Amino acid sequence: LTSTRFDENTAAEFQQLSCSVNHMLDRLALSFDLQRQFAGNAAHELRTPLAMMQTKLELFAEEHSDSCAETAELVQFQIDQVNRLTALVRTLLEMSNLQSVSRSDEIELAPLVDEILTDLTTLAEQKNITLHQNCEDVHMIGSDTLIYRLLFNLIENAIKYNHTGGSVTVSIRKEQHQALLHITDTGCGIPEAYRESIFQPFFRVDKSRSRQMGGVGLGLALVKEIAVLHGGNVCVESSSEKGTTFAVRLPLIGKVE
Ligand code: ADP
Repeated sequence: LTSTRFDENTAAEFQQLSCSVNHMLDRLALSFDLQRQFAGNAAHELRTPLAMMQTKLELFAEEHSDSCAETAELVQFQIDQVNRLTALVRTLLEMSNLQSVSRSDEIELAPLVDEILTDLTTLAEQKNITLHQNCEDVHMIGSDTLIYRLLFNLIENAIKYNHTGGSVTVSIRKEQHQALLHITDTGCGIPEAYRESIFQPFFRVDKSRSRQMGGVGLGLALVKEIAVLHGGNVCVESSSEKGTTFAVRLPLIGKVE
């Protein structure tokens, strides 16, 4: 009798505990949603004034194109700052709208990589970086625009944080029911202590270097969110001698040939 009562009491306690855990999880999810909504609304409000500032500054630069070097430098500095803020606002808007983007496009990954490498050719040429690709014919179902953004951010970082004269290799292959994407660079590497934190919004290993490159510290946070939204994940391996490899796994979702 005692043991039965003990079991009943324990079961009731466990049920109560499970209810309060579920309640806490619901509240956490709501608070994340509210934060995301707040960031999205703030970014939306900032878009118009920033666009106006950008137009005015560009007009000013044009009208004063014959002014002294000091003024030109000052105006260019303001333009760069406005451009950074615009990029930040754009990414915050993208992040707040992620859930509502349709994920039912048929995506061919190899041509998508081709397109991104072409879009990043100028940036790579500025640092004399060679771009390689080794992509199998892999199809998946997901959001075309979001998977473009995921790959673009990783390849752009592989160029930005590389040494002059280095190389970047993108490879894609199919493994069981997943697409396996590898983006490898010969850059400066990421110290072990930071390999988890780099996926946190606004985290940068070297703030001044990231700022110089026009970064705002949201690129990898977006990459992780996109991977998770597609049922996948992203991880990193890195060493200061060899460089960094980001590996992304994405389910093909019923597109297994
Ligand atoms: P950022 O806008 O600063 O590039 P990200 O979220 O894309 O922001 O990256 C976060 C930080 O992770 C970067 O500031 C940089 O320190 C580090 N990082 C990202 N990719 C690489 C890479 N391929 N090699 C070395 N460091 C990297």
